[in-house]
Parts: sequence; C-alpha cells; structure tokens
Amino acid sequence: MWLLMMMLGYFSLFLSYFLRIRQLIIVIILFVAASKAFAGSGGPLSPEQAAYDVNYYDLSLAIDPTAKTINGSLVCRVELIDPIDTLVLDLENTFTIDSTLFKTAGGEYSKVAFSHIDGKVNISIPVLVSASDLITVQIFYGGTPRVASNPPWGVGFVWEKTQSGGPWIGVACEGGGADIWWPCKDHPSDEPDSMSMSFTVPNPLICVSNGRFLGSTDNDDNTTSFNWFISTPINNYNVSIYVAEYSLIEDTYQSVSGDEIPFYFWVLPEDSTTADDHMDVFLKEFNFLESICGPFPFATDKHGWAHAPYWGMEHQTIIAYGHDFTVNRWGMDYIHYHELAHEWWGNLITAKDWADLWIHEGLATYMEALYVEHLSGLDKYHQYMNNRRPSDNQTHPLAPCESITAAQAFDDLNSYYRGASVMHTLRYHLGDEAFFNLLKRWAYPDSTDFDNTNGRLCQIVTTDDMKEQAEVITARDLDPFFEVFFRETAYPVLHVVRGVTEATFTWVSDANVPLDVNIPIQVNGEDQTVEMTDGQGIATVSEFSDLMIDPDKWILMAEPVSTNALEDVVQINNYQLNQNYPNPFNPMTTIHFSIPESQFVTLTLFDLLGKEIRILTGKEYPAGNHKVIFDGSKLTSGTYLYRLRAGDYSEAKRFILLK
Ligand SMILES: [Zn+2]
Repeated sequence: MWLLMMMLGYFSLFLSYFLRIRQLIIVIILFVAASKAFAGSGGPLSPEQAAYDVNYYDLSLAIDPTAKTINGSLVCRVELIDPIDTLVLDLENTFTIDSTLFKTAGGEYSKVAFSHIDGKVNISIPVLVSASDLITVQIFYGGTPRVASNPPWGVGFVWEKTQSGGPWIGVACEGGGADIWWPCKDHPSDEPDSMSMSFTVPNPLICVSNGRFLGSTDNDDNTTSFNWFISTPINNYNVSIYVAEYSLIEDTYQSVSGDEIPFYFWVLPEDSTTADDHMDVFLKEFNFLESICGPFPFATDKHGWAHAPYWGMEHQTIIAYGHDFTVNRWGMDYIHYHELAHEWWGNLITAKDWADLWIHEGLATYMEALYVEHLSGLDKYHQYMNNRRPSDNQTHPLAPCESITAAQAFDDLNSYYRGASVMHTLRYHLGDEAFFNLLKRWAYPDSTDFDNTNGRLCQIVTTDDMKEQAEVITARDLDPFFEVFFRETAYPVLHVVRGVTEATFTWVSDANVPLDVNIPIQVNGEDQTVEMTDGQGIATVSEFSDLMIDPDKWILMAEPVSTNALEDVVQINNYQLNQNYPNPFNPMTTIHFSIPESQFVTLTLFDLLGKEIRILTGKEYPAGNHKVIFDGSKLTSGTYLYRLRAGDYSEAKRFILLK
C-alpha cells in the first residue's frame, strides 16, 4: 500500500527509533483515518470559480484558546475573467456566517445576500459586472474549527499546551484546504498576489504568521492583535498561525544572491538554548539548498520558522518546525531540510493542480539525497535513493492528466519516492552538468533574476510546463522521458536478448513510447553504456560474459526481462566447462558450462587434497549453455577445484577465493 510506503519514508528515522510494531499499527490507523477526513481541496475547477482570479485577501481573526473558537472576517478582492452574478468561495459548514458585504472598485460596501451550503459560500453580486472588473467581498464569520487528529496529515487546529501549561496553537491544512479555517477559493491554481492578516490573542501570548511583521496593537481588553503582510503570492494552505509565549532567535544569513537575509525562529522558551546551539545545522542546510536551487526566494518578506506543536509544514516564510533539534543518521535535520526545500519546490514553484504534486514532494525528497551526497559522497547518495525506491505496484501515473483533489494526490500518487526516483533517473539521462543547471533554471528561469527574490518570480506550473522549460534549458527532446516516467502507470521494462557476441536491448512501456534513456551496464566488471535510439540499442557482450544491467540503479524501471537467442537456434556439439568469472573472487563468482544433450549434471567443489566440500548443482539440464553462481562467503581463502560431470564427460578447473 503506497500510503504506508510514503509514511514509512517520511517517518523512517522516527519509526526506527521510537516506535514498536503495536505503536506503528496505531499510527497507520490514525494516518489512514486522517487521510479519509480530507475534504475535497482542489480537483476540477468549477466554472463559477474559474470565472475570477484572486488578487488579495485580508484575514482578521480573534483566536480564543479557552473556547477553541475563531471569529472575524475575510476580505477578498478578485479580478473577473467572465461576468458572474454570484461569487463562490469555500468555507467549511462548521462555521456560521453573520453577514457578507460587496463593493466594486472605488465603491462603497453594501450588505448583500449569501447562502452557505455544502462548504460553498455563494455571495450575490448586486450589480452588472464585466470581465476585468475588480470586485471585493467581506465575509463575517466564526465558530469552532475542526481539530487535527494527527497533524500535519490530519488537518485542523492544534490546541496544545507548553511544558509550563500555556496555550500552544497551530493550524495545518495542506490535505483539506484553507477553507477549514478561512473563506477562500480553495484551489492550487489561484494564489493572491499579496495578503494581510491580523490575529488577536489573549495576553501574554503572541501570534506569529507569514510575511512581514507590521506591528502589534494592544486592545486594552487583555488581548493584542498581531499584524502581518505577505507581499508575494502564496498557496492558501501555506497561510498559517502559531500562538504561544515564544522567544525569538534572530540571525542574518548571507545569501548567494549577495543579500543579507534576516532569519527569525520563534521557539518555546524552554527550548531556546537547545535551538540556539542547533542554528549552525540550519545554516549549513540553508547554504546547501541555495547552492543547488538558487537564492532563498522570499527574502523581501523574511526567512522565518516557528516552533510548532506538530512535526512540520512548509508554511511560506514561517515554516513549522516540530522536530527535536537532532540530525538523523544521514547527517541532516530532516524536518528543517525537507520543509525548507519546499520554499523553492512548492512555494516558489507551485503545482497548478494536485495531480502535479511531484513538483513539491518529489523534488523536496530528491533534495535530501543531494544533501546526503554533499555530506557523505556518491555511494551514500545511492544508498539513500535505494532506500527510497517506490513500490513496483503502482495504480496511477506519477502525474495523471486530470484534475485531482489533495486527498487523491496524497492517497494515490507516490509523489515523494516516485517523484524523487524520477528526478534521479532524469539526472542520469541528462548528465550532471545539464541536470544541476536545470534545477536552478526551473527555480529561476533567468540567472540574472538571482537578485530578484521579491516573490515576483513565483510560478504556478503544470508537469507539461516543467517539461517544456526543461526542453528549452537542456535543448533536448524530453517527450519520451516525460511520457514514460510521468504519464504511464507502470515503470518501463527493459527486454534483453543475449546472442553469441551481442546483446540487444529494447524499452517496452505501456504505450510503447520509444524511450531514449541509455542503459548503464557492466560486462565482466567493466562499465559500459548502451546507447538507446528509438527505444533500442545493441552492445558487444559475448554469450559467456557476465552482464549486469544498471548496477547503480539509476533508472526507475521494472525487473529486466532477459532471454537467450541461442537456446533455440544454436546446436551445442561439445561439452565445455569455462573458467569461472571473476577469478580470483570474493565471495561471488559465476561458472558457465555447455552440454550437447539433455542429461543429469553435477558440479562439485573440492579442496586441493581432493576432499569434496559441496555439490554446487546436481540436476537434469537441457542441452545448451548454463551457468551456476557460487557464493564462497562460508569458505576460507584458498585455491579450490570445481568438477563438472555429465554422462561420461568430466572436467575440472581451479579457482581462487581471496578474502
Ligand atoms: Zn514535503
């Protein structure tokens, strides 16, 4: 089940250290239950919501930690694409709407009729409007937001307590959409150009949010309002709050753009010394991601983190950190690193539909492997990727050509592991230089924009957009690659036919796309590459050679299908026992032999004194070429004999096990 795979990956370290099997089962049940609770965020965009483009939101809420309620208003300004008589926004029906106001650009607010049915707020537009008009609505609402059962996967509010017993509040809504706490057009294809927010909380709590801090207002009623402004486009689900009696750690990061970027980390006072000691881990990870992806994209607002009462979430410019200030066995603070990677992959470059979730999760997961390589070398990188190989049983393509909801994307798409593995394959396909250049250009299409980190470069893209950009940047035709790895459900299969002196290779995929990904092979231990044109390639490989396909596992493919062209067409006239390969060996080697007729064959291992050690094979074989793989891991170093007997034929050879 892919859901389990994703969770195991996300939690691997956590699980291996902290969970026993019984606890694991409980977490899985919670996780499945939480995923079922996701509302329909995203999916096909209705004509009513396709008729407008959101320019601006202004969210103003009072948060009551005792009653666990929120109350306030949302202003939404939109530009019309088509004339409409009703503006449709999303808001869960758990809230009560008191009233709605409407105004045209430059006009005055007037009260208008509304309905609130099945999570849709339908606001009457009282005047005739036309395309490109700007209209504004304000919705006054309040109520008890849903409580997250297993945040950040289970969406909703988190009403936690700090060690000293004070409130510690957060909200996470990636899977369910921001309409679980404020009225919005709940679709990833539309982001406001900017957003204002004001959150009122009881003293002495503070409320931290996205973007710039504009100041606070003491309301003289034992509450304070904290005012924030996001100057860039933002995903709805990234808008978030954190409420507690936080301490603030401040620093300045030197960006590759040349700018000094202010760094803020709101942390619980009891953890502030631990957090302070951990800051150079954060900085190293920040520096590396900038070196791979280009400058931190939201420097004009801030680079901010908040100590959250749940694991983590990529909330733009105020990322949730609920980790334990440690690095994992690969040397990274996983939550800090993964969520920070989303500032580029998810926040700067945003999927237009949940069907393209790999742009967020596949790329963020792949960034982890690159950091492992940076810290510990290419072997560890391969280990990391091998540990993240997705399941062979896929039920959906990585990027389906249809609009899907967040719930479907997180349930059905293997966007974390499969997305990362396809990036790994793309790196092999393009070569390092082109691939690493592509990563930077995907984030910053023009390198002269490196000093332009004011959010103007935010892009909302599809998988096809990513492909087209990649084709321009690399000057390669990437149709076959994207067709096979993003649009087909199953992985491609490599068919290999072995002949006397040659092996032929053919890519087979669901839609028989002529895939042009070359194939790394090892012939008797030597590396070669099979050039694939129109899905086919040939390599000089003798019938007795040991052939390994893709020994480093660069390509996300199914198990290759190998057949022997000789079996039916070549008559074996003689008995033959070949010298094993490799020799000397440790601990594996392969012994080839040929027999001219079907018969019982034994292959036996002796020491040099003639004492029998082991029978390597003893069974009926058909006429033809055969091989036996021998594992010498239980024997000591030395020279041994192996003897083949078939009918009257008998021959022996020596080999050397060298440990
Ligand atoms: Zn992620």
